[in-house]
This record gives sequence, structure tokens and C-alpha cells, in this order.
Amino acid sequence: MPVSFQHTLDNNSIKPSKLWMPKRVLFTPDALDQTFGQKIYDRVKQFTLPVEVLKTNRLTGLRGETERETYKLAKSTLAIVNAPPSAFKLRPIPPSADFQFHLAEGCPAHCQYCYLAGSLQGPPAIRVFANLPSILQNTLQYHQPNRITSFEASCYTDPLSIEHLTGSLAETIRFFSNRDNAHLRFVTKFDAVDPLLDIEHNDQTRWRISLNAEQISRRLEGGTATIQARIEALRKLALPKEQGGGGYPIGVVLAPIMPVPGWHDEYAKLLNNLKLSLDFPINLTFELITHRFTPGSKEVLMEWYPNTSLDMDETGRATKRNKFGGTKFVYSREIMDEMKTFFYREIKSKFPESTILYWT
Ligand code: SF4
Repeated sequence: MPVSFQHTLDNNSIKPSKLWMPKRVLFTPDALDQTFGQKIYDRVKQFTLPVEVLKTNRLTGLRGETERETYKLAKSTLAIVNAPPSAFKLRPIPPSADFQFHLAEGCPAHCQYCYLAGSLQGPPAIRVFANLPSILQNTLQYHQPNRITSFEASCYTDPLSIEHLTGSLAETIRFFSNRDNAHLRFVTKFDAVDPLLDIEHNDQTRWRISLNAEQISRRLEGGTATIQARIEALRKLALPKEQGGGGYPIGVVLAPIMPVPGWHDEYAKLLNNLKLSLDFPINLTFELITHRFTPGSKEVLMEWYPNTSLDMDETGRATKRNKFGGTKFVYSREIMDEMKTFFYREIKSKFPESTILYWT
């Protein structure tokens, strides 16, 4: 079937987002000893950013006088370090993938519900791993026999947000392109996909883009690409290579889904826009994740975003226990059922060929 470029969205009105630039870049001596660390050094230098090579492998100077100052300082710092030995012991990450591994930890965006709150220790600086080639080699040990093993690379970072400074994502996509029995997946809220469209990925990588209702994204997702820019990026990724696209299998992660006032209309509009943009045959999956928080993540988020309008009122929520005895606050069964029915119906009718991987 011929590919149509006549999608109804007005491409010219979609502003690509600005690339993030850190205020300072730190290299540990061990990171700079790595060949890949040297490559990052050369890349960063091209942007004429202030680079500092530390005397020891410990990151210091990331704390301000208050939590808010620490947040600001850390979030504007890019640190190139070696991943510690613990990063070589991969953990499962259901329902998204068989295993998670990390190209980096931390993210320059400012989502007021950030999934990293409470998961990562210390100030939220963006730490990029210079020993990436060893990290990639290590994933080979985790192949499952007789089936495809999936690896998720975005649990602790948004890998596209820093790709212009690191090149880690391109390296990783190339590494997975030669592996018949392993798939790579990651998710982003950014849109600078152009430099990654030409890579030979052999369908081994599934790009996913995180989308949400306009009002939620505008209010809570600071420093990310606009929803319309993300949809356009998804279109470019999915378009066949001969049409100038990346020809990637793609996915949409709708997250965090929230029953805000007018949510039926807002999410229906989002899915309509998506349908208008993806007006050609595609390999598309959906992952549907409702908003949840824990006592620990709430505490960190309230320090980072004391004036947030994010609803984290425990009294309106149901509680769920995880296998380690921790509590998380989710929407009530009634609201969950209503939202699930709505999203399954909308997606099945608008994207009948797509697969919904999970609802949570
Ligand atoms: S893009 Fe993801 S990792 Fe980055 S701030 Fe937002 S939620 Fe957190």
C-alpha cells in the first residue's frame, strides 16, 4: 500500500523542541579512560560546554543549601562516569520487558510525577555511562533459550533527551541490530529523532513515545517536547526508510493516565491526532499505565515540586501492596474499570491492527 504524506496535521506548525544543554559537564578519570568516554568528550566539546575532569571518581559539588537548590544544580549537570559493578547484574522488569539495563541514570526534564523520584539515590544529576560497550556485551549473557529476550533501556533515564551529547542510543541500536534473539526497547518524551533514522536496526528495536492528554502534559511535563512534536517524531520513526523515515517498529506509552476533568474528550482527541498522523501501515503497540505513587515518591516529589498541582491525595486512592510489603496508591477499582473500558474501546476502534501489551 502506498504511503501517504498527506496527513491532516499541519507539520509546519509543529515546533521541534530545543536540545538540552547542561550548565556543566563532569568527567571522572575512569570514564575518560574509556574509548566510549573519549567519544562523549569529543561530542560534548563540539557544543563548547564547560567541561571539568574530576580528580577522583567520586562526584561532588552537587548539593545546594536547600533541596530545591540541590535539584536545580543536579538537574543542570551532566556527569560522565563508569557504571558500577551492580549495573552488570540485570533485573527483570515485568510487564515491559524481560530485563532492564541502563545507558544512563537521571533525566534533564521536569515531570512533576517523575518515575525516578525515590528510585535513584542522591541528587538527580544526569549520569551517563562511559563503559557502555561492556554494559552492552553483558546483556548477551541474559538471552533466554529458544525465544526472543527483550531488554528495556529507559527505566532510569530518557535516553533521547541526552543523545546529542552521548551517542549512546545509536550505539545501542546498532549493537542490537545484529542479534536475532534479542529486542531492544525504550521510551522517550523527546523528539530529536532525525539523526537516528538512518541506522540499520533490522527491526530489533522498538521505539516507544510517551503521550498524554494535552492539559496534563502542559501542566506537568516541564522541559519535554510538546505532544504534537512527539507524535510527529513517532511518524518519522515509523515511516518506511524509502520514504525518508526510520522504518522502526513503534509503540505508544500512554502514561501516566489520569482521570482529570474532561478526560474522555482529551484522550479521545489525542488518539484522533495520533490516527491522523499514523496514516500508513505500521507495527504499533500500546502500553497503558495509570498514575500511581508511593509514600517515598510523594515525599521526594513534594521536595522537588512544592507547588505542584499533581493530585497525590491518598484519601481518594486505593492501596496496593507489592511483594516486598511496600504500598502504592492507585485509582479506585471503579475508576480503573471505567478508564480501562474506555481506552480498550478507543484503541481497538481507531487502531484495529495494533496490540495492547498491558494495562496497569
Ligand atoms: S521524562 Fe521521564 S525520567 Fe524524565 S523527568 Fe519526565 S518522567 Fe522523569
